Amino acid sequence: MSAAQASPDGIGGKLAKLGRIFGMAEPSSDPAPPPEPAPREGGNGRLRREAERRKTLYEDIGSFLFAHDLDITPLNFGLALDYITGNDLAIEKAVRAILTEKGKLTNGVAEKIIAEQRAEELTPDALHTMLDKLESNLDELTGIADQSTSSAKDFGAALQKQAAELTRDAPGSDKISSIVSLTRSMIEKTREVEHRMREGQKQTRLLQKNLENARKAAEQDHLTGLPNRRAFEATLHDEATLARQNDEGLCVAFCDIDHFKNVNDSHGHDAGDRVLKFVAGLLAKISDDKCHVARHGGEEFVMLFRGASIAEAAKIVDDARADMAERNLVDRKTGERMNQVTFSGGVADVFAYPEPRDALKAADRALYLAKEHGRNRVYIAREGVEE
Ligand code: GH3
Ligand code: MG
Ligand code: MG
Repeated sequence: MSAAQASPDGIGGKLAKLGRIFGMAEPSSDPAPPPEPAPREGGNGRLRREAERRKTLYEDIGSFLFAHDLDITPLNFGLALDYITGNDLAIEKAVRAILTEKGKLTNGVAEKIIAEQRAEELTPDALHTMLDKLESNLDELTGIADQSTSSAKDFGAALQKQAAELTRDAPGSDKISSIVSLTRSMIEKTREVEHRMREGQKQTRLLQKNLENARKAAEQDHLTGLPNRRAFEATLHDEATLARQNDEGLCVAFCDIDHFKNVNDSHGHDAGDRVLKFVAGLLAKISDDKCHVARHGGEEFVMLFRGASIAEAAKIVDDARADMAERNLVDRKTGERMNQVTFSGGVADVFAYPEPRDALKAADRALYLAKEHGRNRVYIAREGVEE
C-alpha cells in the first residue's frame, strides 16, 4: 500500500512516518538506526540528519501528489503536508474519509477540502483577533470620552461661576459686559461639546455591544445553536487547565451520525438539517457546567466531561446513543416515517495523552472503529489501544 492510501492500518504507518519526520524513536522491529556520526562531525551530523528528514518528507509529499495526479500547487502541497504529518486534524480526517470512500483524491476534491477548512477555520480566527483589537481600542476610546466629557462639564461650570461673579462685582461696565457675553457664548459652546461627547459615548457603547454579539455569533453554530469547533477548542483548553488545577478527570467524546447521507438522500437536505438539530438538542440536554457539547462540523459532535472517569463518560454517551436509537422520527414536511437514526461514538481520557488534541484524535480513532464494527455503538480508546 502506498503512502497515498489510507486504511485503519494506515494509522500505524502514519505514526511511524511521523516519528521518522520528527526524529522520534522507531519501533524495535525496524532496522537499527544509522550509526551516530563521529564527534568531529557534531553540528554537521545534526544538519545532515535534519536534511535527510526534510528529504523524506518531500519524498512522501511528492509520492502523495503523484499517486493522486494532483497538480503541484502550494495548496495541494500544504494539503499533502497536513495529511502526512497529521498537523491538521480536520484536513487529515477529510482526506482520510475520501480515501476510504473513493480510494483516490482529485484536484477538485482537494480544492473543496481546502476551501471548506478555510471557510471554517480562518474566518473565526481572523475575526477573533479583529474583535480583540477593536474591543481594546473601544475601551480606550470610552475612557478618553468619559474624561473629556467630565472636563467639558467642569469647564462649563467654572465659566458660569466666573460670569456670575463678574456681573455681581462690576455691574454696568461695558468691558465687563463684553467679557460676560463672550464667556456666555463659550459656555454655550462647551455645552454643545459636552452634548456631542455624550452622543459619541452612546454610539461607542452600542458598538461595543454589537461587537460582543458578533463575538458570540462567531463562536456559535448557526444551525444547531451549539458552540462551534473553534469555541470547543478554547473550552477544551480551559477545561484541561481547570481539571488539572482541581485534580479532576477529563474525557472527550466524538459522536457521528450513522449513514447521515442517507437521510439527506431520502428526505432532502432540510429534513437532514432538522435531524441534525434534533440530535444536537438531545446531546445538549446532557450539558451542564461540567459537560460541554459542540458541533465539530457536518454531522459530528464533540463532548467534554470534566470530573468523570472514562467509564462514566462512555456511559453517558452510550445512554444518549440508546435514547436516540429508540426515537421514531417523522419527516415533518411529508409525514413520512424515517428510518432509525443512530450515532456512533468514541471516548478518550484527555490526560492519558501528551496533548488534548492527541486525545481528540484517539477518540476519533475509537469512533472510526465503532463505525467499522457495525455503528450505533460507543467505543473507548485506552492509551492508543481501542476496545
Ligand atoms: P457514516 O456512518 O460513515 O458516518 O456515514 P455518513 O453518511 O454519516 O457520512 P458521510 O461523511 O458519508 O456523509 C455525511 C453527510 O453529512 C454528507 C453531508 O452532505 C452531510 N452534511 C454535512 N453537514 C450537513 C448539514 O449541515 N446539513 C445537512 N442536511 N447535511 C449535512
Ligand atoms: Mg462524519
Ligand atoms: Mg456520519
